[in-house]
Amino acid sequence: MTGSENEGYEMKEECGIFGVFGHEDASKLSYLGLYALQHRGQESAGIAASAGGRFRILKGMGLVSEVFDARNLSGLAGSSAIGHVRYSTTGSSDIKNAQPILLDTSKGKVAIAHNGNLVNAKELHDELKASGSIFQSTADSEIIIHLLSRSKSGNILEALVEALGQVKGAYSLVILTMDSLIAARDPNGFRPLCIGKLDGAYVAASETCALDLTQANYVRDVEPGEIVVIDKSGLKSVKPFPPDMGRSFCIFELIYFARPDSSIAGRSVHLVRKGFGKKLAMEHPVKADIVISIPDSGNSAALGYSEESGIPFEYGMIRNHYIGRTFIEPSQKIRDLNVKIKLNPIKETLRGKSIVVVDDSIVRGTTSKQRISALREAGAKEIHMRISSPPIIDSCFFGIDTPKREKLIASHKSVEEIRKFIGADSLGYLSVEGMLGSAGLPKDEFCTACFTRDYPIKFGHKVSKLSIEKGRG
Ligand code: AMP
Repeated sequence: MTGSENEGYEMKEECGIFGVFGHEDASKLSYLGLYALQHRGQESAGIAASAGGRFRILKGMGLVSEVFDARNLSGLAGSSAIGHVRYSTTGSSDIKNAQPILLDTSKGKVAIAHNGNLVNAKELHDELKASGSIFQSTADSEIIIHLLSRSKSGNILEALVEALGQVKGAYSLVILTMDSLIAARDPNGFRPLCIGKLDGAYVAASETCALDLTQANYVRDVEPGEIVVIDKSGLKSVKPFPPDMGRSFCIFELIYFARPDSSIAGRSVHLVRKGFGKKLAMEHPVKADIVISIPDSGNSAALGYSEESGIPFEYGMIRNHYIGRTFIEPSQKIRDLNVKIKLNPIKETLRGKSIVVVDDSIVRGTTSKQRISALREAGAKEIHMRISSPPIIDSCFFGIDTPKREKLIASHKSVEEIRKFIGADSLGYLSVEGMLGSAGLPKDEFCTACFTRDYPIKFGHKVSKLSIEKGRG
């Protein structure tokens, strides 16, 4: 790989993780948990289960429902398990990067499932490789297990603390060891992770919607910088990192990524989004006949906009749920086709109307442009686009799949230029202050880097990418 390939914006992964300890149906519960987390990654799915230290693992490309069936799940015997769903645009679309990753380490067998992105992965990977490590994947997550294995400490928790002390960036982890389940979150707390309880067993999940489906009761979030070890004797927590490292939960989880039926840090994602919509109506009022949403991403904010403005909410577009997300196909041609397959306007509610269209974000601007032209074709008289987040001006290096900066329309166009490009009669974005203020979100607890370029971890504006022989890491 050439040096230039290391520069910038390469590792783009979105993932969901789940873990169970002490339940006879561990792998079935993991399957259900992953089902609820499917929105966090649709490219591959995997479950590793342990029965008294004997590990079994199954991973495949595709959706959870495509990878697992009753027969192969019953082969994943054991009372503890972890699972993972993954989606990556530039990390190679390859089964070898599917997770969990199971490795035989100096501390015994260990399986890991990771959500997030390490920003010093390239350096660590090169150092480890130079000193003899053999990697089975190009996933940055594998580095953590190599570092753990190299630790001189015989105690797995100490070894993990040592390993995590060397990595920089975003990680929410579930790790299955011979006799425990470990759940850990990076000191900034970029990605969510919560703990639940079910029939005396512990469950860990990226989002509470996965607890709901498995009927586990929410206990609490894993705190930023916390490592929770669950074993036969119960739950133990350590906070080995300095407490002053600064929190920076990803605000884009609240805007778009998390499911609206999840609660994060005690906040209903749906209600936070509704609050964004209300604030948007205050910041960018307009006279119109109806408010419609771009389903499903704009639904909660559109309801908020309608409630605040008094303009009735209507269904203006219907989503076909039986296809993948539009970003799945990297080629522009297919992406455009996907937009048409995905959403269809209801002509009868739109014809001759002046409409407010609410969506959560504009990324490249290309799908927004097509949606607006579809709404015009359906007879809408005026189209006022309202976005329940600020303009996205830079890439995420911490686990949200945003494209390179130059592909982000707001990185190089003004709001007026974007309005012209997408073909709307007016365009209004929620302000950064409005976004934080409306939900009562303390500014210093969130990462808003994609809107502000205020990156909570400094890394020279280049992101590490793992080296592989050909293609991508
Ligand atoms: P675009 O037209 O390229 O600006 O796409 C905007 C649409 O992409 C909005 O409906 C967003 O909900 C959606 N979106 C935002 N972030 C992502 C993401 N990381 N993955 C997939 N879709 C996204």
